[in-house]
Amino acid sequence: MRQNQEEFFADIARELGAAALDVSPEARRRYGENTTTRGTRDVLGVVFPKSTAEVVTIVAAANRHQVPIYPISAGNNIGLGSRAPVRDGQVVVDMGWHMSRISEVNEELGYAVIEPGVTFQKLHDELVRLGDRLMISATSGPPLGSVLGNAVEKGAGYGPHFDHFGMLCGLEVVLGNAEVVRTGEGSVRPDKVVNWHVSKYSFGPILDGLFAQSNFGIVTRAAVWLLPRPPVIESFHFVFPADDDLATIVDLIRPLKMSNFVPTLFRVCNDLYAVGTEETNPEYERTRGRQSLSVDAHTALRAKHGLGAWQVSGAFYGPSRAALAPMIERVRAHFGRAQVGRFVSHEEAQSIPPLNIAIDSMSGRPGSAELALLKWRPGGGNTWFTPGIPMSGKLAQELDRLGRAIYAEHGLDYTIMHVAGARFARSLHVLVFNRNDPDENHRADECYRRLAREYANRGIGVGRAPIDYHQEHMDMLMPSFKATCNSIKRALDPNGIIAPGRYGIG
Ligand code: ADP
Repeated sequence: MRQNQEEFFADIARELGAAALDVSPEARRRYGENTTTRGTRDVLGVVFPKSTAEVVTIVAAANRHQVPIYPISAGNNIGLGSRAPVRDGQVVVDMGWHMSRISEVNEELGYAVIEPGVTFQKLHDELVRLGDRLMISATSGPPLGSVLGNAVEKGAGYGPHFDHFGMLCGLEVVLGNAEVVRTGEGSVRPDKVVNWHVSKYSFGPILDGLFAQSNFGIVTRAAVWLLPRPPVIESFHFVFPADDDLATIVDLIRPLKMSNFVPTLFRVCNDLYAVGTEETNPEYERTRGRQSLSVDAHTALRAKHGLGAWQVSGAFYGPSRAALAPMIERVRAHFGRAQVGRFVSHEEAQSIPPLNIAIDSMSGRPGSAELALLKWRPGGGNTWFTPGIPMSGKLAQELDRLGRAIYAEHGLDYTIMHVAGARFARSLHVLVFNRNDPDENHRADECYRRLAREYANRGIGVGRAPIDYHQEHMDMLMPSFKATCNSIKRALDPNGIIAPGRYGIG
């Protein structure tokens, strides 16, 4: 260890106690490991703050000794980097280990004030304990993921509060220069919180956005807005037979969302995204992972599960089943015009596990079933490519053909879910690969890079990126975007100590 690093850890031990850090080989390995193609990062050690004041102490020491630090909340960022920093040689600040308090649930105004370690499961359980009157916006990702970590990463759910960053109101942040700022009305009187967690727009610039997918500060607490739990949630689903039905699906969804008739987003999962939670690749041994799944195997898997090329899911919220029945009928009639999709009712979907995941996610219930996707191939490799599409069927279909062809060229299995709103759908491409097989690992890396390039050439970026590709994605943007980010970085973190390299900044 270099002298400045030793001095940093000595300062932390002196100021926060020896238990506030862990530099053991086991901790360094655990925090550096991840599922992406480049693999493990070299982590210098881990520190565990208990309060905002302790975060200030850590940031000040990092500045004094020029040691880069990398904040995580719960570190369940699976497929995008887990707990690991973008670059080697950084100290992980595990915000969630101690700082996992729900300091307030305001049932009248519908929000909770949370620290970084509050997981989806914990917030859900607490709301149930309080009477189940409010619900979280769940992801279909790990229940032990951090609500705050997910939000600052621009993660999303499926219900009306799907925009997780947008549902934060009032942040407390430690900047790279060790200054503490509260966004919005949190800055009026630190001892009197009145509008901090209810007003989005108050005096001055909206600083909140600076802390979404950036490395300008460490978020120590925030409020998250919560939705009243409706008495009844009734889902509806349509199974479409052919890969080329995507254009029809997208054009059918758009008016239902544009008019706000359906309150949830739509999940549009392809066959492998759906059955991949229940199955492993049946041809893997025979092809030694070098080929995409055959057409025959696709057909057999669809038949086995009673599913199709695409499964479309949405839900209504309301006071009773009787009140929702005409709405379900209207959606059925609307989709019926296409004459190809099979309607699957809420009851039937409950007995089809992949559709049940959609129901849980739209009902604010965290669940781990979707994580089984990652076992589709052996070897634990997993990375996500997350471009998006305008809600226009023709382009969606064109890009779908492109994506399929690129996966096939790299011998991987095309696995995708579009999460669709009125004007835009996020297209979550999963790359599952055997990272113990160097050739397959290499093909997954090449496949990601090719997808990223092809989409960027068409003017399409990504929503989030695995740590392996932050620099590449930033370098694909106009130079003035990168220069502006770096100017802000220098202003707020002049020594560049918070997560240098994250999002290609610093
Ligand atoms: P989750 O457990 O929800 O997946 P993580 O804790 O892995 O979330 O956080 C995802 C990423 O978001 C981290 O790698 C980090 O770059 C950033 N991040 C997480 N928590 C904070 C925080 N409190 N302040 C600033 N950035 C954070």
